[in-house]
This record gives sequence, structure tokens and C-alpha cells, in this order.
Amino acid sequence: MTDWKNFDLMNPTPEHKMLRDMVKSFVVAEVEPQAHEYDRKEKFNLVLFKKLSELGLLGITVPEQYGGSGLDAVASIIAHEELSASDPGFCLAYLAHTLLAVNNLAVNGSDEQKKKYLPGLSDGSLVGSMAMSEPDYGTDVLGMTTTAVRKGDKYIINGRKMWITNGALDDNKTACDFVWLYAKTGEKDGRTLLSTFIIEKNDPGFYVGQKIMDKLGMRASNTAELVFENCEIPANRLVGAEGDSVNHMMRNLEIERVGLAAMALGIARRSIEIMNKYANERMSFKKPLNSYGQIQKYIAESYAEYKASQAYVYDTARRLSLNEEGNRLDSDGVKLVATTMAKNVADRAIQVLGGYGYVGEYVVERLWRDSKLLEIGGGTLEAHQKNITRDLSRAGF
Ligand SMILES: Cc1cc2nc3c(=O)[nH]c(=O)nc-3n(C[C@H](O)[C@H](O)[C@H](O)COP(=O)(O)OP(=O)(O)OC[C@H]3O[C@@H](n4cnc5c(N)ncnc54)[C@H](O)[C@@H]3O)c2cc1C
Repeated sequence: MTDWKNFDLMNPTPEHKMLRDMVKSFVVAEVEPQAHEYDRKEKFNLVLFKKLSELGLLGITVPEQYGGSGLDAVASIIAHEELSASDPGFCLAYLAHTLLAVNNLAVNGSDEQKKKYLPGLSDGSLVGSMAMSEPDYGTDVLGMTTTAVRKGDKYIINGRKMWITNGALDDNKTACDFVWLYAKTGEKDGRTLLSTFIIEKNDPGFYVGQKIMDKLGMRASNTAELVFENCEIPANRLVGAEGDSVNHMMRNLEIERVGLAAMALGIARRSIEIMNKYANERMSFKKPLNSYGQIQKYIAESYAEYKASQAYVYDTARRLSLNEEGNRLDSDGVKLVATTMAKNVADRAIQVLGGYGYVGEYVVERLWRDSKLLEIGGGTLEAHQKNITRDLSRAGF
């Protein structure tokens, strides 16, 4: 019989528990001390990012034969939750690298492509990004206009990609080392045929365009426009078969969405810790704040909503196979519910702290700003609503 009483949904195995403890210690020692400064400077901490390789976190889902840690979706979710409890902006750069670029390659690349890039992406010598969105096409992703045309043993790529996390590195001008790029290679029966290409930073005709600065939140991650002007790459950088990428793009969005939901859990947990401690200590009318019913409502509802999201996120992650049949319904579901939960919880935390909540020293204002991106990136709330309704209707739920 399963020992349900001692079953730990968030750490289903002793290895998951060890991983969580290790990331937590790293966060206390290395991530938390720099989080405020890098948010204020709007700067990506590349040096700290590379240190994640020492913990085996940069290639967390990469099979060991390619230099990774060979861990599962739950392990990845643990890393995202713990990093995000301190510095969601830094964690977004981690997500773009490990889930959008690296995991995509580990699942969909050829053996030759995996051997060439995965060891460097896992040991921190290469930083990855994924370029799907464009200036005029976000939610309507299949409308993309970036094209790739085969000429002999080369592809010529033209177009612009927008909002690319890690698209530019430390000085926000140098392009990142590895880009997982989606481009249009044709149309069939009125449908866009999408293909995936690997772009290297020194490819001719590839450069960083507009630097995207002055973001509301996630300021510790770099966001850039990437430009492809007659960018010429060898034909062996095509991933899989030409025109066959829609399925794997949609499949990888699942782990991305569960990762973003895990980031929301980290934000919510930290916000609850801060408001709980503050309401316990802060006196008003000679009584602690947490003796007042309105404050209790903020804290209690936040905790209960966080725990409900936590169960849904970990249950979905536990059932998410990285290679096989997907679970689009619940990956949309967890992101829909957890991200707004996190924003509401961070908002209540600011309210409980009053004026102190409104300034950087008390952290919750940064968590609140960062939480808003989770309702937009990796699919907007409206996109999740549309997908869930369509999937439920097809399933005859
Ligand atoms: C900080 C940041 C980092 C990002 N990182 C990356 C990255 O690394 N790689 C990448 O490829 N992209 C990235 N993105 C892009 C992100 O995925 C898109 O912003 C997102 O998909 C929404 O696209 P959009 O901004 O073009 O908005 P739009 O698609 O123009 O949507 C605008 C609004 O209209 C709504 N809407 C659109 N269509 C419909 C409809 N049919 N029905 C109802 N409502 C609709 C949307 O939900 C939204 O509210 C990032 C964005 C940000 C802000």
C-alpha cells in the first residue's frame, strides 16, 4: 500500500528533496544577496547564471550521456519554484535557457545536434534562448512572417523576433550563443508550415536589434529583439523535418507553462512568508496586525489559494512526460490559475505591509511587478482560456 500519510507531493522522491535543499541553500547564499541590485540596475547576472552549472541545473532535463543531469519535470519545477521565491527575473532567464532552448533540443534534436550543443549548454559555456514571438505576431503565433528558404546546402533566414529572453547577453548587445528559432518554410492547404533552426551567435546576418529596456518587472533578465537579414546557416541546422515543427513547438510550450506556474508558486510562497511575519510583528492600535479580521482574510486566503495551486502544479508536473504524450489541458490550466493567484497574493502582501510594502527593501513590490509577466509570457491568460475551452469541448468533458 502507498504510504499516503508520508507522501510528499512536492518532493516525491528523496532525490527531489535533496535537490530542493541544495537549490534553497544556493538561493540563500548567492541569489538573494544580488536580487534587489540587479532588478534596480536592470541587469542580467551572467556570472551567477553560469554558477548554476556547478549544481547541475543548467542541463537539468538533459540526459547524462549529453552532459546533463537527466532529471524529470518535477525536478525542473522544484528548481524554478525555489529560484523564483527569491529572484523571478533571474529565474526567467533560467527558464528561457533550460526549458525553452535546452529541453527543446534534448527532446527534438538529432543525435549530432545534441552532441554538438548540449554539453556546452549544460556546463554554462553556452547560453540559450528561444525565438518564437514577432513584433506583429504573439498569440497568433502561426501568423509569423520570419522565413527560411533553402538554397543548396544552406538556409537563408529573414525576419525579426521580439521579446526574446536571453536574446542578448551581459551588455545587452552581444547575441546569445544559441537560439532555437522558429521560421516559416511554406504553406499547405492554407496552413503555415513551421520549421526549427539552430542559430549561433556569429552567424552572418544575425544580430541583436532593439534592446527592450524599462520593463515593469523581470528586470534581472535581458529581453531583446533579434534580427535576421539574409542570415545564412548550413542546412544541417534544421531540426527534424522541414515544415514539421508545429507539434513540437506546442509540446514544449507545456513544460514552459508548468515552469512559469512553478515560478508563480515561488512568488506566492515568499509573499505569504513576508506578510505573515510582518503581520505578526507590526503593532497597530496596540495589537498585532494579524489580530484584525481584514488582515487575517488577506493571509488566510493567500495561503489556501497558494496550497490549491501548489497541488495542481505538482500533480501536473508529476504526470508530464518530457518525451511522450503531452498534457496541454492541464499545462494551460496550471498557468492560468497559478499566475493570477501569485499576482493577487503579492498584491495582498503589499497591502498588509502598507507603505513598507511599496518600497524595494521589503521585496514584495518586486515580486508583484515580476508576477505580472507570468500572465503574459508563454501564453496570455486569454490564450489559456481559449485552449482550455477548446480542449474540454473536444473531450466532451
Ligand atoms: C518579458 C518578456 C519575455 C518574453 N520572452 C519570450 C521569449 O523568450 N521567446 C518568445 O518567443 N517570446 C517571448 N515573449 C513574448 C510573449 O510570449 C508574448 O508577449 C505573448 O505571447 C503575447 O503576445 P503579444 O505580446 O504579441 O500580445 P498579443 O498577442 O498582441 O495580445 C495582446 C492582447 O490581446 C489578447 N488576444 C490576442 N488574441 C486574442 C484572441 N484571439 N482572443 C482574445 N484575446 C486575444 C491577448 O491575450 C492579450 O491580452 C516574452 C514577452 C515578455 C513581455
